[in-house]
Amino acid sequence: MATTRRRRIYLRGSAAEFFDDPTLLLHEYFHVLKQWEPGLLTVRHYFLEWLRHGYWRNRFEIEARDFATAHFLHFRALLARAKSRTGAADESRPA
Ligand SMILES: [Zn+2]
Repeated sequence: MATTRRRRIYLRGSAAEFFDDPTLLLHEYFHVLKQWEPGLLTVRHYFLEWLRHGYWRNRFEIEARDFATAHFLHFRALLARAKSRTGAADESRPA
């Protein structure tokens, strides 16, 4: 579970859980960089949208879910590639 503000992601669980969930990471990334940063998302705008459409159907959440869905496979592949490089580097270290 996470909540965002301008340039901030507040986590309710651990950071490790957050970073292990690429879909959630992309979702919150989108809120921060593509909605908060350009000023499209504000507390007032979100609250009005929430009153009209609730959580699931408000446009900020729909856009963030769509972004996460559209980029999930590519992002997961990038994470796997980075992890394998890190693993390879670790294996090459002397014991
Ligand atoms: Zn969201």
